[in-house]
Amino acid sequence: MITRSLPQLAHVTCRRGLTGVGAIRLFSASASQRADFTHAVIGGGVVGLAVARALAERASTAQVSSSASPVLLLERHSDVGTETSSRNSEVIHAGLYYGAESLKTQVCIRGRQLLYKFCEQYGVGHRRTGKWIVAQTPNQRHALEKIYAFAQSYRGGREHLEDDEVLPLRWVTADEAKRREPAIRAEAGVLESLSTGIVDSHGLMQTLLGLFEDAGGVLAAGSPVVRITPLGGGSDAPGSGGWQLHVKPIGAAEETVVTAETIVNAAGLGAAAVHNMITQGDAAGPTGPPRKLYYAKGNYFSYAPSQPRVSTLIYPAPDPGVGGLGTHLTLDLAGRIRFGPDFEWVTDPTDLAANAARLPAAIEAIKSYLPGIDASALQPDYAGMRPKLLPPGGAAKDKKDPDFIVRSEPGYKGWVNLLGIESPGLTSSLAIGEMVEKLVYSGS
Ligand SMILES: Cc1cc2nc3c(=O)[nH]c(=O)nc-3n(C[C@H](O)[C@H](O)[C@H](O)COP(=O)(O)OP(=O)(O)OC[C@H]3O[C@@H](n4cnc5c(N)ncnc54)[C@H](O)[C@@H]3O)c2cc1C
Repeated sequence: MITRSLPQLAHVTCRRGLTGVGAIRLFSASASQRADFTHAVIGGGVVGLAVARALAERASTAQVSSSASPVLLLERHSDVGTETSSRNSEVIHAGLYYGAESLKTQVCIRGRQLLYKFCEQYGVGHRRTGKWIVAQTPNQRHALEKIYAFAQSYRGGREHLEDDEVLPLRWVTADEAKRREPAIRAEAGVLESLSTGIVDSHGLMQTLLGLFEDAGGVLAAGSPVVRITPLGGGSDAPGSGGWQLHVKPIGAAEETVVTAETIVNAAGLGAAAVHNMITQGDAAGPTGPPRKLYYAKGNYFSYAPSQPRVSTLIYPAPDPGVGGLGTHLTLDLAGRIRFGPDFEWVTDPTDLAANAARLPAAIEAIKSYLPGIDASALQPDYAGMRPKLLPPGGAAKDKKDPDFIVRSEPGYKGWVNLLGIESPGLTSSLAIGEMVEKLVYSGS
């Protein structure tokens, strides 16, 4: 049996008091139905949090007639940010790898700028470490030259922008490389990215959550969305009458239903399932084949010894078609080094144990640029899961991964859909939040 009781959902799951939430909002001037919330964001990872915060702040500054809470953030786990957003390298990427026309490049560069400013403004832990991409062979050198040429060409027509706003890169001479990072081997060259850094992803998410709640947003944790019904339809697009979300709170026997004028699917590894709840449901609307995600695990390896010492992020030259950026060396904010992620196709997105069988290959990859590593001290640590839009081999044609999908879903009203938000999703999160806010409020 389904109950249509928002307070019930609230008492079971929400972190904050819900005074005023029972008040209802008009879907639109012409619609007679009323919605519990203006916007519902599904998925409390870093991207969903950034989107929810942007929408809540926008709504809190807009003139709204109702005292109802403007944004509901629904997260299936009992806390935010426990999936991919807390299982990554925490690198603030420059935006070097995705091509001039891609949304990934656009939101990575914009997101990086916003993120540095955000961290400074709100005291989120971060450091501009810089990053070296190292080549050992002429082929790898060629790969570095292509990255450099891309960065130069990307600057073309953007000369008015500050260095930090584009892709600042420089070549490091062999002497300088030896002086700065004596432990690093780079037989065929080093390209340095000056704008790369690291961020405390947990601090970032907690700060976003605080800002979201300060703007009147409501987090419903422990609230998996299990079914979605677009309202309206007939001669109008599905969703023009708003959206009904069926939620099965953890531990509850019954579903609860909430309504919202617009919805944002930011469900990460669960985004295809959420997409299919809409397109494969009973409401009339564009259906098409169900969406499917594929999963590529990234295993990390810890390293406790203090030697060899390295103070820059070290990435091997990219190997097109192999997937990922190669088993690289990153630093945490305490200066500890860790290695990974590697790239392993799996079928189960919950298969998150670091795979010890991958250690020998990782050691070989790491030794190519850090020959002095004590391999016996490397331990399988944790793993993250990439939500891939194409299956193994699917990206082989142009050797590029598919772009992020961030769009108002055609044929529907009030549904912004986010799919395939893999790396650099952490870096891009604030820019994606900004973009979704524009899609919701001005349609572009
Ligand atoms: C190994 C690895 C390394 C990476 N390294 C970096 C890096 O260094 N820098 C960088 O910029 N990016 C990196 N990324 C990418 C970055 O981590 C992700 O792009 C980002 O965390 C995605 O955030 P998200 O909010 O979209 O997804 P998630 O963090 O997965 O959040 C989605 C949320 O939706 C919830 N959810 C799902 N289904 C439902 C449902 N039905 N109802 C309610 N809630 C639901 C989930 O519980 C989850 O909390 C890396 C990714 C991986 C896998």
